[in-house]
Amino acid sequence: MQPGVITGQLQAKVRELGLYYPPDPASAEESSLGGNIATNAGGPRCLKYGVTRNYIMGLEIVLADGSIVRTGGRTHKNKLGFNLTDLFIGSEGMLGIVTEATLRLIPHPPARALTLASFAQATDAARAVQTILDAGFLPCALEVADSFTLAAARNYTQNVPPGNALLMVEIDGQAASVRSEQQQLLKLLKKNAALTLQSSHLPQGIEKLWAVRKAFSYSLRATGLTKLNEDVVVPRGKLLQLFQLSASLEKKYGVSVAAFGHAGDGNIHVNLMVPPAEADAPRTRQALDALFQKVIALGGTITGEHGVGLAKKPWWNQATTPALRDLHQRIKHSLDPFSLLNPGKFLDP
Ligand SMILES: Cc1cc2nc3c(=O)[nH]c(=O)nc-3n(C[C@H](O)[C@H](O)[C@H](O)COP(=O)(O)OP(=O)(O)OC[C@H]3O[C@@H](n4cnc5c(N)ncnc54)[C@H](O)[C@@H]3O)c2cc1C
Repeated sequence: MQPGVITGQLQAKVRELGLYYPPDPASAEESSLGGNIATNAGGPRCLKYGVTRNYIMGLEIVLADGSIVRTGGRTHKNKLGFNLTDLFIGSEGMLGIVTEATLRLIPHPPARALTLASFAQATDAARAVQTILDAGFLPCALEVADSFTLAAARNYTQNVPPGNALLMVEIDGQAASVRSEQQQLLKLLKKNAALTLQSSHLPQGIEKLWAVRKAFSYSLRATGLTKLNEDVVVPRGKLLQLFQLSASLEKKYGVSVAAFGHAGDGNIHVNLMVPPAEADAPRTRQALDALFQKVIALGGTITGEHGVGLAKKPWWNQATTPALRDLHQRIKHSLDPFSLLNPGKFLDP
């Protein structure tokens, strides 16, 4: 597959063959496979299916000196030397340019069902996430959204459920097992403080419900506020604390927070929503510092999907040890000694 292929188009084409390429960043209609590989993109389906890395069997890479290497191959198992394919995936274009990828495609699950459950508050939704997993369900997507996100979505699109928090739970598999799991799931959600429930097992109905989730980023942009888009991750058991943290940032720093994302992975987009003139203001920076500090203290990481790049470069040192930074520098130097590839990104020459 070539790197310029658009993710959504790839998914649609392989679907026609009965196959499945699960990685599904919300940007799938515009993002490219090369960009997905360079950032090791995730998306709602990571909980069950993993990230881009799990679907790349081999790569063709052009290195900084112009030489071309092929890593991995077409086999499911491959222990030939170091796992260099994984080294390049998620390397943010700093170690080589991906010019071709061999993908792992899996059979498309024949049935799906999606449920939207609304809650009075985000912490109720966070508790429900743990209850669902504790009950032995492994949804293919388990997404959450807070009140700011939902209010913005209501101004932008239709069919947004009421309530101050939303949980989206999708399961997939064989039709009979999806039906039975879905019934149990609805009972569980009712018992666990869900205010309203909406569900569908039909492709069109599912897409209509998903359209709400896909509109979140765009509806937040449409508020006219600057969206400082963070994608922090905490161990899943700390999800509740993460939602409590975002509420405390609002109180302490007077900034609005729109939190939504991949609850099942503990990977939440905690977006600071600030007037454009305040994007670089001291209190904005203090709020970001506090967010990242607390996330690290919770055993989490400052980026789960987008990578460090330029935006998170100021916190790179805080989030890593000297030994880890040194190893990054040595790898970068050995592959790109003149820092030709994405210079200035999070590793300074
Ligand atoms: C609305 C919206 C929603 C998003 N949702 C998600 C989400 O759910 N999950 C998620 O993980 N991300 C998400 N993202 C972030 C982004 O879309 C992904 O990181 C995506 O993988 C980037 O792909 P791209 O083609 O846009 O890459 P670009 O933005 O063009 O590039 C990203 C990086 O990859 C490098 N790169 C690109 N092509 C190559 C190549 N062939 N070889 C080497 N390096 C290369 C670039 O130099 C750059 O550093 C979202 C973004 C938006 C705008």
